[in-house]
Amino acid sequence: MTQPDDLKQLARKIALLNAVKHEGKADAGAVTGRILGERPDLKANAKDVMKSVAEAVKEVNEYTVAEQRSIIEENWPELLAEKRIKEEKILPPLPNVDKYRTVVTRFSPNPDCVLHLGSIRAIILSHDYARMYKGQFILRFEDTDPRLKKSVLEYYDLIREDIRWLECEWDQEFIQSDRISIYYEYAEKLLEIGGAYVCTCKKEDFSEKVLAATPCPCRDLSADENQARWKRMLNGTFNEGDAIVRVKTDLAHSNPAVRDWPALRIIDTKRSPHPRVRSRYRVWPLYNFACGVDDHLMGVTHIIRGKEHVTNMVRQRYMYSHLGWNYPEAIHYGRLKIAGAALSKSKIIRALTDGFAKDFSDPRLGTLIALRRRGITPEALRKIVIEVGPRPVDATLSWDNIYAYNRKIVDSRANRYFYVENPVPVSVSGVSRTYISKPLLHPSYPERGNRKLEVEPIKNEARLLISKKDFASLRKGQVVRFMELFNVTVDKIVENRVQASFHSEPYDEARKLNASLIHWLPEVGNLRVNVVMPTMEISEGVGEQGLKQEAKDQIVQLTRFGFGRIDEVTQDLVKIYYAHN
Ligand SMILES: [Zn+2]
Repeated sequence: MTQPDDLKQLARKIALLNAVKHEGKADAGAVTGRILGERPDLKANAKDVMKSVAEAVKEVNEYTVAEQRSIIEENWPELLAEKRIKEEKILPPLPNVDKYRTVVTRFSPNPDCVLHLGSIRAIILSHDYARMYKGQFILRFEDTDPRLKKSVLEYYDLIREDIRWLECEWDQEFIQSDRISIYYEYAEKLLEIGGAYVCTCKKEDFSEKVLAATPCPCRDLSADENQARWKRMLNGTFNEGDAIVRVKTDLAHSNPAVRDWPALRIIDTKRSPHPRVRSRYRVWPLYNFACGVDDHLMGVTHIIRGKEHVTNMVRQRYMYSHLGWNYPEAIHYGRLKIAGAALSKSKIIRALTDGFAKDFSDPRLGTLIALRRRGITPEALRKIVIEVGPRPVDATLSWDNIYAYNRKIVDSRANRYFYVENPVPVSVSGVSRTYISKPLLHPSYPERGNRKLEVEPIKNEARLLISKKDFASLRKGQVVRFMELFNVTVDKIVENRVQASFHSEPYDEARKLNASLIHWLPEVGNLRVNVVMPTMEISEGVGEQGLKQEAKDQIVQLTRFGFGRIDEVTQDLVKIYYAHN
């Protein structure tokens, strides 16, 4: 009788689990009992089971507990998940929560681009903190720059989709371009109380003055004169660039960029119409003003954002103090850099306008759309963000970190299939009968069932396919095992084909000979498969028919090739986006 590879695997897994529970010593009786309990279908092969268990126990008991654990961790990480949940990091508490009735946080994207990896920290932290304190999470579109950071209508929806994908559903949504009259109201109030003024100086003249910490002539105008200038901004007497509302600060502030910062300016929306409100408004608030007014009016209690915003806080505090408002708690975290990823909106947009990328799902862009398409899971991204937390120090992640987190999540979900890239034919002589190989869909979940690959020899010769890469590694005289099938001896390698002969069937033989394990497919009856790689190169080959049963968006593991997401299934082609190995 033979011992199928999957039974060996199962015995080894159960023996390892049993061993770590019992100070490193697995018990053959207990292991056999558990296997037969999980797989009653194996009762008919009790002898095989016992033999496999005896071998597995012998092997496993030679390791230390630490070694046993690391083997489990490596092969079946989901089995230790229980332990990991207990160790899982939780976010450190927010400051001064008791000061507020409800915690309110916000994420405020500018819809001038879709979201990329650089945004996940702000979204996930703001959302998860709101949930942690049973508070409110606000989504606010900051779309008040129709000229330089022009929003694009379809991005509002793409951003909503990105945030939903991250499982960060929001409680309230605001769009700043709907709130222009509110900003006018507070601009007028500031002008009235002397907290702001309308400056008509030339840009260079103002800069010169402010660098010298001296006021420009507009700073001391009366409230009436300011109101008159403000009207001229609104009614079109002033043109783009003629006048700007500035918020008064300490002119001697150590950072000149803080001094009397610009709050509202004129944009010729006849020339640069806004995608939502077209040319309805010509005076538009700048970032610090609109954001500062909104945070107060929306009751935001905790602002969680990158430390590049620290200066903005300093600016906004002046406005808050003019208006008698209390500034929210501000948590500024460090930069989360991804080594090797071009994470900036401008680079992403340029890639599209240059024609380098066809759309936002191009895996080279690092957009959330692209990550989603590749099968990177929101769970993996959340784990990374929680792990790093809101610390102010910079952190650098590599793609490998992201892949490692994702692998732990998708490993248990992904069914296994053989995919043969750039197939090369192999003929095997001496195959005396039809072989039906039934590899498990998932080695740790036998209940999911088996795949079925049939090898039917013609005149004792079987014809198989292997990948070009495996082909290149073959040497004459070598014994290799075709996974879950049989072992062969390589007899002859000719250009782009291999002649081999049947060696033996048991996996044990292969192990004794230290034979390489390679995956394969029958020569006929396969599906055409294209795998879109992270470089956008297309890997072409053939795959098992069973791949067709996988739904779109499913993550699969192509044995010895890597994980990927099913992108498209048509009659004769399956398209997969590669995630990682
Ligand atoms: Zn001025």
